[in-house]
Amino acid sequence: MGSEYSTNARGLTHKGMVRKSNQDAFSSDSDQRTFVVADGMGGHAGGEVASNLSIEIIRDDLTQILKNNQESPLTNPEMFRLLSDSLNHASTKVYEKALEEPNLKGMGTTVTMLQILGQNGYYAHVGDSRLYLLRCGYIYQLTSDHSLVSEQVEAGLLTEEEAEMHQLRNVITRSIGYQETEYVDTDFFPVRKDDFLLLCSDGLHGKVSDQEICSQVYQHGVDAVDPLVDLANERGGEDNITVVIVKAREKRS
Ligand code: CA
Repeated sequence: MGSEYSTNARGLTHKGMVRKSNQDAFSSDSDQRTFVVADGMGGHAGGEVASNLSIEIIRDDLTQILKNNQESPLTNPEMFRLLSDSLNHASTKVYEKALEEPNLKGMGTTVTMLQILGQNGYYAHVGDSRLYLLRCGYIYQLTSDHSLVSEQVEAGLLTEEEAEMHQLRNVITRSIGYQETEYVDTDFFPVRKDDFLLLCSDGLHGKVSDQEICSQVYQHGVDAVDPLVDLANERGGEDNITVVIVKAREKRS
């Protein structure tokens, strides 16, 4: 008891080999232990605006939440509500901005965020970016993709293999900013020393398998961001690619 986790982390985003712009964005703050990946969509500059604005709002909200609750620890339900509120705060702001600027109409973004607080990792998630936990040589996907194909896989209408090749595999069923509010998944897990957490956009997980991600992280640690982005690009790099890798290190308090 009494120990808490410090982190070291690296993030990398790349526009890939085909697209002219990068609509992905990320934030990696090891001091605050807040990590966010967002994958924007929408014509013109919409995708970039949606992902960057969302990240800015969520990071600022978390700074404020952590500052306000330094003295008394938050309960898990309180933390889930605050994270969900923050993603909805971002959704409302992106939605309102799209109303003000017609050329940004219809923009939206995925958001996957992780907050390490004390001995727990709290996360909130909308869309098809992912959070993975890597522990003792194994990789676990903590988030579920909010995508048409993954819902069909869950319903038994498509196999995993069919989903990977499916024309509509990029269609997501929930997003931040497309409407004023969205249903946000939240959860937590107890962090253990030497855990790795990896957040990424579909530009990575669509090109590099979970097992390959796992083996790169155990070979290179947080510096696996470089070979992972290279692998996605070598395989075509049709999408923007973003990855943030966090390592939990125990710190006595
Ligand atoms: Ca993408």
